[in-house]
Amino acid sequence: MAKRDYYEVLGVAKTATAQEMKKAYRKIAMKYHPDKNPGDKSVEEKFKEAAEAYEVLSDENKRAKYDRFGHAGVDGNFGGGGRSGSMEDIFSQFGDIFSDGSPFESFFGGGGGGRRSSRGGGQRGTNLRIKLALTYEEIAKGVTKKIKVNKDAKCGTCNGSGAKNAQAVRTCNTCGGQGVVRQIRSTFLGQMQTTGTCPSCNGKGNTIIDKCGTCSGAGTTKNAETIEIEVPAGVSDGIQLSMQGKGNAGKNGAPSGDLIIQIEEKEHDLFERDGNNLLYDLYISFPDAALGTSVEIPTLDSKVKIKIPPGSQSGKVFRLKGKGFKDIQSYQIGDLLVHVNIWTPKELTRTEKELLEKLRTMENIVPNPGKNEKGFFDRMKQYFN
Ligand SMILES: [Zn+2]
Ligand SMILES: [Zn+2]
Repeated sequence: MAKRDYYEVLGVAKTATAQEMKKAYRKIAMKYHPDKNPGDKSVEEKFKEAAEAYEVLSDENKRAKYDRFGHAGVDGNFGGGGRSGSMEDIFSQFGDIFSDGSPFESFFGGGGGGRRSSRGGGQRGTNLRIKLALTYEEIAKGVTKKIKVNKDAKCGTCNGSGAKNAQAVRTCNTCGGQGVVRQIRSTFLGQMQTTGTCPSCNGKGNTIIDKCGTCSGAGTTKNAETIEIEVPAGVSDGIQLSMQGKGNAGKNGAPSGDLIIQIEEKEHDLFERDGNNLLYDLYISFPDAALGTSVEIPTLDSKVKIKIPPGSQSGKVFRLKGKGFKDIQSYQIGDLLVHVNIWTPKELTRTEKELLEKLRTMENIVPNPGKNEKGFFDRMKQYFN
């Protein structure tokens, strides 16, 4: 069979620029791409013909020889009788023709985006983020929570492959299943070979000709899954726990992403948190403060009785050792700090008023802080060191 004229094959004029030829070849290559026409020999021949024409005409040297001597001038390059290389060879040499975007993108083998599994499979699943609100009681002891999350799960019908059946998966013709293509380029540094993600299969190494009916080829389906989360004791607001592989399933059997759990603290009716310590405001009456008493203090898991000695000042802090939060990183446990407030009545009956009037000017009722009396700011220093 006589060879067609290379310019005719590409459908360009003899004066075509490199850019015009590249464009023309790209168009033909897309049209006759073996992946789009599986098993069609005539299409494959057309593609090979175009590849051969482009290989010659895109090389200035070869193009000059072809222009002068016709096919005879360049045929030696192909071992005499037409093109013998496999389809994969052709594509691996011209892989760059399919890459859009800047020349640098394909030059450095970049583009594509997304983390890929090391074995060149599909794209890794995305991380799933949830918020988990916990009470102080749960944080103090640690807790196991069962949470329902809506996530991409591996499709059960196709087991994540995205294909209808085993016959529907074909090894990618472009990369021969490697997921990457070699690209040989002439640069100002000379010939360079680079590898990039295969543009035909996006690095998967195969193409699916018949998609799974359940997931439409995605390999994943939305699924509500109950996940058990073990929260260690001592976590705090804003901390993130990560469960590897519990996020969204990857495409086409690639690894799953992670489940990221952001901890939130629920407000407590009685306590405030300060690091590993718990803060509690205790209100006692003036008579109790003056005469002394014993009061019950709530803790996160029970109650503790403490003695208020006679003459206790407002602002005094009692420290209940080990009644706070366990440190998440060490064996230390925080304390429960009980802050004493002396209650000043907001309303008074007539009798109460009369009694207080009598007290008002009595000897020991009038404030008389001694030299060693610790005021609020001194106490702050003492308690929070
Ligand atoms: Zn491929
Ligand atoms: Zn499926």
